[in-house]
Amino acid sequence: MNWLSIFIYDTTWSFAAEIAIRTVIMFSLVILFLRFTGKRGVRQLTIFELTIILSLGSIAGDPMFTEDLPVIQAVLITSIVLLLYRLCTWLASRHKAFELLLEGKPTYIVENGLLVLEDVKKGRMSHDEFFTEMRKQGIRHLGQVHMGLLETDGEFSVLLFPDDETQYGLPVFPKEFQPAQFIEFGHRYACMHCGYVDRISDLNSPCKRCHHNTVGWARALNNKIVN
Ligand SMILES: [Zn+2]
Repeated sequence: MNWLSIFIYDTTWSFAAEIAIRTVIMFSLVILFLRFTGKRGVRQLTIFELTIILSLGSIAGDPMFTEDLPVIQAVLITSIVLLLYRLCTWLASRHKAFELLLEGKPTYIVENGLLVLEDVKKGRMSHDEFFTEMRKQGIRHLGQVHMGLLETDGEFSVLLFPDDETQYGLPVFPKEFQPAQFIEFGHRYACMHCGYVDRISDLNSPCKRCHHNTVGWARALNNKIVN
């Protein structure tokens, strides 16, 4: 194995200097480009925005070290991508259907303390992922949640029940999200698949809402939100 060829190959000092200059140019171009998109910063990206960032990254990288790739070609491509981006956002602001195509739409994950199963499946998000999101917002069980929405940029928005409307619900913390081992008299149990709360008399009884009976029942909670 020739280590020299792996690390140096035919790099000369003058080409190293050229790489430095090319990198500075492309780096400045990327910053300029991102400023022109009109975005103020990035927290979460929609699929559309992610596509733009990915193509930009690949356009910007190559001319940094490819000797026979003139920077002007990269400038041309970035300008076209920028134009497409502006055109798409303009169209999306005018036509709802186009916006849906580009960004998708928010999906309900929780409604009235219950998991919305069709939307959970569509969102391709596991119980774990949105339970994590709910825990971060100080939620202990689904009975505290009036509505939970998965936004198009991947963020999770919740609307809580007021204190006096808190219901019994499925716990979202791992220690409490456990199948019950025995039935305690007077307690309510929540289906671990869909969050439906019931007074069951047998831990093997199927859920009346989702007809699942394999995941188990967790002891339901009705604690109020702690502010
Ligand atoms: Zn269920």
